[in-house]
Amino acid sequence: AVETARDPVPAPAPEGPPCGPLGEAARSYRGLFAGLVVGEEAPRRAPVPGDPERRMIDLKGYATFMNASQVGICRIPGSAWFAGAERPDHDHAVVILVEHGRVPERDNPAHAWVAPAVGEVTNMRAAEIAVCLARHIRKMGFPARAHVAGASQLDFARLAVLAGLAVRDGDRLRNPFLGDRFALAVVSTSYALEVDRPLAARAHTAMDWRYWLGVNGAMSGRERNRRARRASHLSRYPMETVRRVERPTTLILDDEVPRVPKRAAFFDRALRGDLGDKAQRERHRFAFKQPHTAGMMAPMRAMVEVQGGEAAAARAPGLDDAAANARAIKALSYHLGADLTGICEIPRYAWFSHNEHGQAIEPYHRYAVVMLIDQEYDTMEGASGDDWISGAQSMRAYLRGAEIAGIMGDTLRRLGFPARPQTNVDSDVLHIPLVLQAGLGELSRIGELVLNPFVGPRFKSVVLTTDMPLQADKPIDFGLQYFCGNCRKCARECPCSAIPLGGKIMFNGYEIWKPDVERCARYRLTNAKGSACGRCMKTCPLNKVVTADGPQVTRIASWFGINARWAKPIMVPVAVWLDDFIGHGKRNPVKKWWLDLEIVDGVCVKPKGVNERDIDTSLNTDPGKQKMAYYHADMMPVPNDNNPQPIDRKAAMAAAALVETPDQARARHGRGEGPPAHYSRTPARPSGPRGPTAKPAVYGGGTAARR
Ligand code: SF4
Ligand code: SF4
Repeated sequence: AVETARDPVPAPAPEGPPCGPLGEAARSYRGLFAGLVVGEEAPRRAPVPGDPERRMIDLKGYATFMNASQVGICRIPGSAWFAGAERPDHDHAVVILVEHGRVPERDNPAHAWVAPAVGEVTNMRAAEIAVCLARHIRKMGFPARAHVAGASQLDFARLAVLAGLAVRDGDRLRNPFLGDRFALAVVSTSYALEVDRPLAARAHTAMDWRYWLGVNGAMSGRERNRRARRASHLSRYPMETVRRVERPTTLILDDEVPRVPKRAAFFDRALRGDLGDKAQRERHRFAFKQPHTAGMMAPMRAMVEVQGGEAAAARAPGLDDAAANARAIKALSYHLGADLTGICEIPRYAWFSHNEHGQAIEPYHRYAVVMLIDQEYDTMEGASGDDWISGAQSMRAYLRGAEIAGIMGDTLRRLGFPARPQTNVDSDVLHIPLVLQAGLGELSRIGELVLNPFVGPRFKSVVLTTDMPLQADKPIDFGLQYFCGNCRKCARECPCSAIPLGGKIMFNGYEIWKPDVERCARYRLTNAKGSACGRCMKTCPLNKVVTADGPQVTRIASWFGINARWAKPIMVPVAVWLDDFIGHGKRNPVKKWWLDLEIVDGVCVKPKGVNERDIDTSLNTDPGKQKMAYYHADMMPVPNDNNPQPIDRKAAMAAAALVETPDQARARHGRGEGPPAHYSRTPARPSGPRGPTAKPAVYGGGTAARR
């Protein structure tokens, strides 16, 4: 009542200029998001429950999934609108609170970039979440507007108090867990929601024993302390303890790997019509098939426009030390929200040969900063992996990755270094070889997917290429080849049998468990009871929580898996059996926050079905019963022809006879013999590009890797 009775405040004065190169980059990204705060709602309302509590769970779940630190909901009193502001007919506010990131140590060069820009970066993060959430509500057919720093009609402080996120402490706001280290954004809407109650006025701190233990599932104070004690250039996971090796643990015949065109990625092939009408049709609506995902698409597209750019003419002084630069760039990535970061030099074969217009790509940067974005355990735990939230899980990671790499690239260019983010929307490099070379994981049975010792397969990657001098990391060996050699769970649980049950082969110069990428792409595109698929990630035994908040037994098993390699012959079969025995990979209904909705012709409808699978140990694990198709380099489409080039699955099945084993390839290579004829890529049309000019594919699917 006191808060509501306060006089309306005037809109804040225009902001001053941002501080430093990172502040400028973050302000420019916030500007992109601010351009998306308003929009028309869908013409018909979604069949959502009338229960305001269930609606609240969907919205708070989404905001938390998007990494809001805290979310509260309140009614909007008239006094919360800025004096004289235009007032839409909105009566509820979803208040989003985002915690400040860590400032690097003073001896880290990133300190000078981050320290003056913390508020700017946090405002940008809050803006991104608010814009996506408002768009989600509008996709469901209800009016909503995002209010972000510099583009708001509402008094954030008053709403934070009313929504139970903060109390007043003199002129400042105080959150019981974060003090004043946070930024706010708000979504106003007429979508009726369950509201929170304000905090008691004396609730200045709530750091009691429940906070330290993480009671009710919040991140515990212990885990927060553990993270805070680590140097800012190290991730939250102890990657520095994992064994480093000179070469990846799977054979790569560098001189034989053919460079491949973007046109050969199966999601691109579907877009051009190579997989038939149905796959082409579904490819066009793939990213707009579900409201949580569709909410993220406009911010995603807005960022593509600013991906490139020239570096400033003069380089900032004091950035010649490659080791110090590597520490700085990693600390910056973690400040912006990356989960794991590694660096490598870019092998020539990691560059695509041709872009989406069919033009040849010449490598242009020396280093890759490779970042992994965790797809989040909690939502994965509630999902089957191929239900209606699956696409949003991927897209959230792609969006966050594009934002992080985009801001890093912008910052480096302002410092005088050429840099370009390589995102799932528009990348000139293949990510998989770079994730391997940057020491972030090993190739797994899932095939064209690298698995990390701490987050397993549960991530998407984003890359920043640059010529800034950087110290590269080395590949890692944590014994995954042995583990995957003795575990077939992903292959067993894949809904379309796209993952090989048998051994590794050589494909395009890589030793790999080669998946049937056509099957996988088709399933993800045409999944009628969900959006996309990530069931292999969901069911993998290494999809676990191994931080201080993870179960003790999981953390011990993880430590043994990484450090006690001598124990693998005993431990791996037990771990694989136990994983099924305890039912890992089943859905946890407590974690299901989202509403199952499908967008058809621009409006949300109740889907015809939902993939509600758990695990099934009776499924086939006999490699003899599995037939795979191999689209070798000589079966790739003409790289500069965007007309449909239908695939020949029969020929691809017959091409299984051509594959070498790694031992055969090694021996042949040792004898000095060249690669087999099927390693030769289909040549480009000599007379130049043909067919419809391609726009960058909005959703590459599989980090531009599945080909
Ligand atoms: Fe199978 Fe592809 Fe789904 Fe993985 S993403 S489970 S490979 S269909
Ligand atoms: Fe490897 Fe098993 Fe995970 Fe598949 S499910 S990637 S075989 S550990």
